[in-house]
Amino acid sequence: MKRSEMEASLFCTYCNEETPHMIVYINDEITSIECEDCHHIVEIKVDIMKEFYKELYERISTKPSRITHEYKRGLISFLSKLPMRAASKPYRLMSDLNQSRKVIRQFKKK
Ligand SMILES: [Zn+2]
Repeated sequence: MKRSEMEASLFCTYCNEETPHMIVYINDEITSIECEDCHHIVEIKVDIMKEFYKELYERISTKPSRITHEYKRGLISFLSKLPMRAASKPYRLMSDLNQSRKVIRQFKKK
């Protein structure tokens, strides 16, 4: 999961003119648009957990189907059966998920 920001010139209904706006994205979804002059924020409701599960599902479902099946039988027994050199991939998946959790925490703090 990725949080990104983009600046764009948009029409602000509060300033009644075109002003620079900060657009915040989570993945490809816009979550908020802030006018940088009057700081009026338009929040767009994004189901952050839905985004998270969608991402998780996409990651797991792009793996070969046999592995996906093994996943369902329990991640721990699945990992213990893997040779060590193959285990770096699940590790990378886990660190990506930790990154996602960080984004979720920041998002929920608001
Ligand atoms: Zn404004």
